Amino acid sequence: RVKALVAGNWKMNGLKASKKELTALAKKLGKEKPGCDVLICPPATLIATLKDAAKGTKIAIGGQDCHAKESGAHTGDVSAEMLKDAGASYVIVGHSERRADHGETDADVKAKAEAAHRAGLVAIVCVGETEAQRDAGETLKIIKGQLKGSLPAGATAKTTVIAYEPVWAIGTGRTPTADDVAKVHAAIRKALDARFGAEGAKMRILYGGSVKPSNAAELMAVPNVNGALVGGASLKAEDFWGIVSAY
Ligand code: 13P
Repeated sequence: RVKALVAGNWKMNGLKASKKELTALAKKLGKEKPGCDVLICPPATLIATLKDAAKGTKIAIGGQDCHAKESGAHTGDVSAEMLKDAGASYVIVGHSERRADHGETDADVKAKAEAAHRAGLVAIVCVGETEAQRDAGETLKIIKGQLKGSLPAGATAKTTVIAYEPVWAIGTGRTPTADDVAKVHAAIRKALDARFGAEGAKMRILYGGSVKPSNAAELMAVPNVNGALVGGASLKAEDFWGIVSAY
């Protein structure tokens, strides 16, 4: 059985004082030892601070995006090597908010995932359909296209995690049914198996989109769901713990 990963994506939230949420989470983790890996992806400004606060705990720290290049004249951008240097071991790439707000294409996402691998970071590659695409019955076609275009050659279960996040479920309080999640995750697994063989069978596939303590157990029990990518409910230690403890 693949060890699950519960990842918190803080998005553009958090100041130095937010360190207390990590400390509170660490206390819970130390006492109750869940059966999953735990990751927090704060804004880049907090990676070093949270890495420091996470010392001696099992909480990993990650970035939310990276530039494809290692360094250079790219004002405002942060490279995968810089995230690694600040203490990150993972980076999210291709989040739908990046795809929408910054026009990131599958090719951009693939280059970022390659950069993550180059730097020794695990890439969490996000895919997901919009509501219009779902209504048009195109969900699986869209997801397969995004996987094909966004995943670099040579991706392994150690270097790569997939996150399925239906765009319409992000921050809306709406989630697909367990059956719908099962269908999409099975299709993702099939595509990974076909392209990456045994590595594809082991790759973690997270579900993201309005995961809360109240629905985590049901969603996390769905076949081929190997963890969660959590936005809003990752900001408070108590809520995030309610999801982590589903494992
Ligand atoms: P919410 O959990 O706030 O819906 O966000 C999901 C998400 O986008 C995580 O990356």
